Amino acid sequence: MLVVSDEIMHYLFGVTFCLISILLIVIVIDDFKTLIINVTSRFVRCKISRQVKKRLEKMRIEVSNVTAEQQQACMCCMICLEEFSAGSEATRTPCRHVYHHQCITEWLEKSDSCPLCRCNLL
Ligand SMILES: [Zn+2]
Ligand SMILES: [Zn+2]
Repeated sequence: MLVVSDEIMHYLFGVTFCLISILLIVIVIDDFKTLIINVTSRFVRCKISRQVKKRLEKMRIEVSNVTAEQQQACMCCMICLEEFSAGSEATRTPCRHVYHHQCITEWLEKSDSCPLCRCNLL
């Protein structure tokens, strides 16, 4: 009697162990899949934004380099809507729009186009 129940216990233990292992493997594979997808999309996104960032031009806001056209337009960053102060650093896109470096960098993590004119920056 003791031997039989021992065998059953072993059997049950084995089955439970197998089930838990399968469950763990499924969870790990699923996590791994998500991780791979995340890493791949992050890598692609990184590569794209690196390419875009190369096309951005750093500039310093000075009264002398503010064109008449810019003076007429609102001298503010259209992402955070804050006005540029003289001497502050800004970044100009190839479409000649000016933003804070921090603002346009964060924007380009999510989008490939200029927030103002929707011009593709790639
Ligand atoms: Zn800004
Ligand atoms: Zn633009």
